[in-house]
Amino acid sequence: MFSLETANIEKAINNAKALHPKVKMVEFGTYEVAGSKGNTYTVKCYRAHGEKIVECNCATRPGVACKHGMAACSLHIALAAQRGH
Ligand SMILES: [Zn+2]
Repeated sequence: MFSLETANIEKAINNAKALHPKVKMVEFGTYEVAGSKGNTYTVKCYRAHGEKIVECNCATRPGVACKHGMAACSLHIALAAQRGH
């Protein structure tokens, strides 16, 4: 789990751009992201205490942004913009 406000997301964004993992929406705020080994990670994007929180069930340490989280997040932000959130 990491916050878009406090985590260093630049590296994770670059990794997400390089690998371009497939992201599937389960429901608004919940996404399935394809891992490199044919596995899938579940990512949740939501707001808590004024921060944008991203939760991914991969092995990345808490507080460190991962590429799955950023890939899901970019879709989430685009969907949120469409919905006017
Ligand atoms: Zn992850």
